[in-house]
Amino acid sequence: MHDVISPVSEEIVATVPATSVEETDAAIERAQRAFESWRKVAPGDRARLLRRFAAVVDAHNEELAQLEVRNSGHTIGNARWEAGNVRDVLDYYAGAPERLSGRQIPVAGGIDVTFYEPLGVVGIIVPWNFPMPIAGWGFGPALAAGNTVVLKPAELTPLTAIRLGELALEAGLPEGVLTVLPGKGSIVGQRFVTHPLVRKVCFTGSTDVGKQIMAGCADQVKRVTLELGGKSANIVFADADLERAAAGAPGAVFDNAGQDCCARSRLLVQAGVYDKFLGLLEQSVKAFRCEDPSLETAQMGPLISSGQRESVKSYISEKEVLFTGTAPDGKGWWMPPTVVGARSTDDQHWREEIFGPVLSVMPFDDEDDAIRKANDTEYGLSGSIWTGDLGRGIRVARGVEAGNLSVNSNSSVRYWTPFGGVKQSGLGRELGPDAVAAFSEVKNVYFSTEA
Ligand code: NAD
Repeated sequence: MHDVISPVSEEIVATVPATSVEETDAAIERAQRAFESWRKVAPGDRARLLRRFAAVVDAHNEELAQLEVRNSGHTIGNARWEAGNVRDVLDYYAGAPERLSGRQIPVAGGIDVTFYEPLGVVGIIVPWNFPMPIAGWGFGPALAAGNTVVLKPAELTPLTAIRLGELALEAGLPEGVLTVLPGKGSIVGQRFVTHPLVRKVCFTGSTDVGKQIMAGCADQVKRVTLELGGKSANIVFADADLERAAAGAPGAVFDNAGQDCCARSRLLVQAGVYDKFLGLLEQSVKAFRCEDPSLETAQMGPLISSGQRESVKSYISEKEVLFTGTAPDGKGWWMPPTVVGARSTDDQHWREEIFGPVLSVMPFDDEDDAIRKANDTEYGLSGSIWTGDLGRGIRVARGVEAGNLSVNSNSSVRYWTPFGGVKQSGLGRELGPDAVAAFSEVKNVYFSTEA
């Protein structure tokens, strides 16, 4: 058994089982048996079951959100959005089973047809920072394509995933179609990689573990999707609406206490407006509400664990701190939003993914310099560009190496648009119209019409 601790109260909020290798194997075999039936469910019936699952999740939105606040310290506003996102993803992909059509390709002497076929059992490994959405981004399209799923939540944050597994059964999904297996990455997650019946692994987490998973999957030529770390840039040009960019910058990095793979944790400001922009930023950082996450006004809660807070603090040297926001004292793994000046692109806080409420800032000269500095990283997940010049917005968006960019906005995620990273931020895409195909195998069949 494994204790789950609240990052707000530092108290045990639940005790959950730690699944063993033998139990993982048994669950994978059950999922394989369930797959034999699930793949044959008529498309309309599969769609109806997914829609019912979405409705049940929706009916439990507040319960799931409160559970996430207790387990992960997410703000209640974010947690409601996260549970709503699972509903939306299920609803969206419920539209897929009846539309997943292959092609008829012209050939001589017969007919050539392609079919989308499910892969089998899909293993989904989820990190602790967004337990609900990342689970849903995997199981929504995977189930729609006719696969069954075994899902391992992070050790620190298993509660909402366990509840989603129960709600799937309540909605009428057959036993074994979605199985949640709390436990250790090195045991349950690793077994997804090595078990031959698991045909694809969807991993979201750190780049180092992602590399191990990819290497492990190579052994069986197993399909793998990797959603890994990030060190995204927020680029502010002098011709931007500086007030709007400064008002949005704290949320773009401190949301979820900076424990966000899309966090815009490197701020690049054009030299001519650097001081002015930092003045505006200081005001918005000081107004950013880091407080009890169950309060409706909260914009940021505590970090996930004391270890995570220690790790984040180790990146900060007092002399580099430009200004901070505020955070509660006392119990809970709190840390105030912190803005640090970078002197060089070699600074450790500028280069490494800190995964906490730390924003590194640096000036740039012109468009080329902005693109060069933004790309001077091993990561490439997301980022923002603020400018009043549409042409520049397009040029810079084309020049920055990242999977998801926004111009005059900090938003990264819409369930109907693709999401994923380049370079060491990942491999493959989730969400959007192509995700169901990513959980399918294309089979080509040639029918001869020759007598
Ligand atoms: P982590 O890599 O430590 O763990 C992620 C998951 O992998 C957990 O469930 C863990 O138990 C499991 N795991 C650990 N070792 C394993 C192994 N050897 N085999 C199989 N599974 C194993 O990451 P974390 O600390 O939970 O999450 C933070 C990281 O996730 C950050 O780097 C963040 O950027 C990244 N992340 C990326 C995205 C994205 O979409 N790109 C989204 C969220 C988080």
